[in-house]
Amino acid sequence: MKDLKNKTEIVFEVNALSKLKEIEDKKILIMTDSFIAKSVLMKELLKNINSSNKVIIYDKVMPDPSLEIVGQSLALYIKEDIDIIVGFGGGSSIDSAKGVIYFASEVSHKNIYFIAIPTTSGTGSEVTSVAVLKDNDAQVKHLLQSDDMLPDLAILDPCLVKELPKKIIANTGIDVLTHAIEAYVGKNRSSYSDALSEKAGELVVKYLYRSYNNIRDVEAKEEMHLASMMAGKSFEMAGLGINHAIAHQLGAEFHIPHGLCNGLLLTSVIDFNSRKKNIEKRYANYARKIGITKAKEDTEAVNNLKTFIKSLQGIMEMPKSLSECNVSKDKLLKAKDKLAENALKDNCMKSAPMSIDIKATKEIIEKIY
Ligand SMILES: [Zn+2]
Repeated sequence: MKDLKNKTEIVFEVNALSKLKEIEDKKILIMTDSFIAKSVLMKELLKNINSSNKVIIYDKVMPDPSLEIVGQSLALYIKEDIDIIVGFGGGSSIDSAKGVIYFASEVSHKNIYFIAIPTTSGTGSEVTSVAVLKDNDAQVKHLLQSDDMLPDLAILDPCLVKELPKKIIANTGIDVLTHAIEAYVGKNRSSYSDALSEKAGELVVKYLYRSYNNIRDVEAKEEMHLASMMAGKSFEMAGLGINHAIAHQLGAEFHIPHGLCNGLLLTSVIDFNSRKKNIEKRYANYARKIGITKAKEDTEAVNNLKTFIKSLQGIMEMPKSLSECNVSKDKLLKAKDKLAENALKDNCMKSAPMSIDIKATKEIIEKIY
């Protein structure tokens, strides 16, 4: 059964952070990283929380957040008897907060109110019920899913993304596009999720490079912030696929940012999935809908989609291969079997539009070297 969960209240506009002023007399745990904790963004956030509340800041979130981070914050949550958890930052901070909520239900029956405030425009984590957490011992990323992890409130304030470094804009922007495209061909897609993917893709075409190229282009940043949320809502319903399943493993093994991993894989995964004619048609329609081609012939339209992706990555000076990400051939050869095996076990594979075996998975990994 298709299930459209609309639990999350979404507020979006410049100064949307002021929504926090409505909160009174609560114990609030803010989860973030050490960089944001010291930045003006944190000052802005705290300015909007009134003094009747007690605020506790956990600032040890790292990229590729681990179960260890979740364990530490869970201890803090129990000790302080927290009422509200705020995930404040990129996908890592929001996913860490989700991790606490996931495990908190096992130690307490208290209803936690969960607020997600993204400071990047990419993961869409503020509107999804999934979190990616790393098991450092096994060097594997786990995709957790629970409706409890859907935020109660998402605050999309474009003021929070206006100072993002170019590399982060590029990586997270390509992540948005990958979410939209994978959802468009995902097993659980519907016309509802398609509409969100199409609009998110249109906004990427129009605003991603503008956002990358001009730090002062507030309109582009606002629209990319919305695109990220819409692509998130789309894949929350439709699911992801092979692209994310492999990207999770590459990120865990070689410490390459998530959006960049997705970008390295995107055209190769489109090639693989396009072997099925009905999937090729979906990609072709997508390319037409987001306005990058008028080609009538499907193969030509898909080629135009791939060319668009590659040129977008090119003008944003993104690495084009694993070798350009400083992964040695030797390291890749050693890790390849494990990467492919773990990718096949990744939860994202469940919604992939076609099945893939270990040999083909390894071939995709080799192709992007
Ligand atoms: Zn992603």
